[in-house]
Amino acid sequence: MKKRFVIWTLILFSLYGLLLGLYFFQWTGVGVPPAYEGTAADPATFMTERELQLSQEYSRYQNFLSFLGEPLEWIIYLGVMVFGVSLVFKNFGERISRFSFVQIPMFVLLLSTLTSILLFPLDYARRWLSVEYGISTQSFSSWMRDELIGFWVGYVIMALLITVLYFLMRKFQKRWWLFAWVLMIPFLIFMMYLQPVVIDPLYNDFTELQDKQLEEKILTLADEAEIPAERVYEVNMSEKTNSMNAYVNGIGSNLRIVLWDTTLERLQDKEVLFIMAHEIGHYVMNHLYWNLAGVIVATFFGLYFTYHLMKWSVRKWGGKFGFSKISDVASLPLFYLILTILSFASSPVELAISRNAETDADRYAIEMTQDPEAAIGSFQELTVNGLSDVNPPALVKYLRYGHPTMMERIHMLESYQDVEIKKE
Ligand SMILES: [Zn+2]
Repeated sequence: MKKRFVIWTLILFSLYGLLLGLYFFQWTGVGVPPAYEGTAADPATFMTERELQLSQEYSRYQNFLSFLGEPLEWIIYLGVMVFGVSLVFKNFGERISRFSFVQIPMFVLLLSTLTSILLFPLDYARRWLSVEYGISTQSFSSWMRDELIGFWVGYVIMALLITVLYFLMRKFQKRWWLFAWVLMIPFLIFMMYLQPVVIDPLYNDFTELQDKQLEEKILTLADEAEIPAERVYEVNMSEKTNSMNAYVNGIGSNLRIVLWDTTLERLQDKEVLFIMAHEIGHYVMNHLYWNLAGVIVATFFGLYFTYHLMKWSVRKWGGKFGFSKISDVASLPLFYLILTILSFASSPVELAISRNAETDADRYAIEMTQDPEAAIGSFQELTVNGLSDVNPPALVKYLRYGHPTMMERIHMLESYQDVEIKKE
């Protein structure tokens, strides 16, 4: 089985890589459709020849690497079971302790370490590209520090969740998924609450807005939407990247609007105000709460399907992989495998919902600021600074984009402008 696994993995993965290469470098064109040529959404109207060329190369390489990495995690989880590594990990845990609350976190640690090491080259390649094209300005040591923080934060959360999960699997053979879901609800809410005050500051410094003149304009805008001043933060990103961004996160009293300092520094004030209005839109339309509700519903179905798929796979392959029960911790790679495949399969729906919310926030922002020129300018700047593709290939859009494409966003603003001019 090991030999067959290796041969088939090599054949299928090479074929997949080849198809991806053809798709990104041969079959899909760059630029915008003829109807958009010469409009504000056409990068040829706001990028130099050189920027245009770099952005095309950069997005092709990044897309290629990102899609290439997609099935790697699945292959690792499968490989861990096929080669009996899963049993080695389990035996190691049993040797150091007889308590499952030690054995399970140990298993999670070994599996996370192995996965991170195997996926590291790809991560590194993506960082290298980003530095090479002048997007990331982060030093290797700072990047490595972020990677390690990410590893340990992820580990602590997973070790906790998985230990509880296997405890439930042992106790309730048929209903573990339902109990796991019930426990996940307060946990998800708690994590969303902690994110801006505990997790995010591990990576970057958050302060109140530094530019006092701009702050006043931003807070006036926030005031219009009845958002208190302590909700607006600036984060120091300029030592890590040239790209710009802003977001809303958190929940309850920890709900925050965060603007990257790059955005504040590089955009004109009226452009920053449009970005800010977009974030206010998310806040006012309660997108974070809708998102939370969506995650809770998705978790319910995710766990339900995982329960059935786990049962079925253990019956079919458990013998070969050396475990006969779901509640055996050696089945964890199988649990991860099923979960990652399910989350991949559901991502087009999640992303479509998110793109919809983003369009709503754009519309809210333009109605609030009434300044299409600044709005279009901000999106054009965002595109140039991130060397992004205004009109990515369909696969990228449907499997990666939580925002509408820049072509769609700018086009929407332009049509808004036309409507306004006609009104006058
Ligand atoms: Zn948004």
